Amino acid sequence: MDNVDELEIRKFEALAARWWDPDSEFKPLHEINPLRMGYISRTVNPAGKKVLDIGCGGGILAEAMAHHGADVTAIDMADASLSVARLHQLESKLEIDYQKSSAEQYAQDHREEFDIVTCLEMLEHVPEPAKVIQACHDLVKPGGTVFFSTINRNPKSYLFAIVGAEYILNLLPRGTHDYARFIKPSELAAFSRDSKLDLQDQIGMAYNPLTRKYSLEKNVDVNYIACYTRPETQT
Ligand code: SAH
Repeated sequence: MDNVDELEIRKFEALAARWWDPDSEFKPLHEINPLRMGYISRTVNPAGKKVLDIGCGGGILAEAMAHHGADVTAIDMADASLSVARLHQLESKLEIDYQKSSAEQYAQDHREEFDIVTCLEMLEHVPEPAKVIQACHDLVKPGGTVFFSTINRNPKSYLFAIVGAEYILNLLPRGTHDYARFIKPSELAAFSRDSKLDLQDQIGMAYNPLTRKYSLEKNVDVNYIACYTRPETQT
């Protein structure tokens, strides 16, 4: 299948049972989730909005969006993760529509359906992120908002996201991230501009190895989240 890296999907399938274990390989996602959810809800109130979460995994962000009152659809290509997500929402008493699909496939039949599209920590796992970004544009309504988060590409991000997280602190399994797939904010902005999405804001999610805590900061050297909008009218 084009633009889906089967090896990546298998990597996530192998870990799927641990999506909701806050001390597992997914600990960093659990820790950044309140930060990114806070950032999203301060930017646009998700209550009552139609939201699509792309590359949802076990549903960590999708559930947080649903808790904020959003009507959430969430897609991923890993069956095992979708099964975990569907089971977990029963416990959480939420109704999220989980579907197996890539962003590009979903965009074929669901153009301009969503007020908010989120695609977090996913672009660095696909061969051609620009195609996913184009699909996000197609899926969001004119005037709607798209959130991307990913990892910057520079010596510091190599040190923090690969050497530190995978080799020193063992936060993530070795091989989780491929440095070459990290995306600079300028590259994300260029892909988004090509897809007619307008950059509104971006903020870093910085990890302090001493306190072992993440916080939202201006510096986008490593992890960052960015907010884009689709213009009301296309020129
Ligand atoms: N967005 C979630 C999970 C991030 S992990 C969160 O931030 O909490 C990356 C996820 O992207 C995995 O669940 C993986 O299965 C999924 N993924 C990778 N490539 C994909 C693709 N081409 N289409 C859809 N999902 C994909």
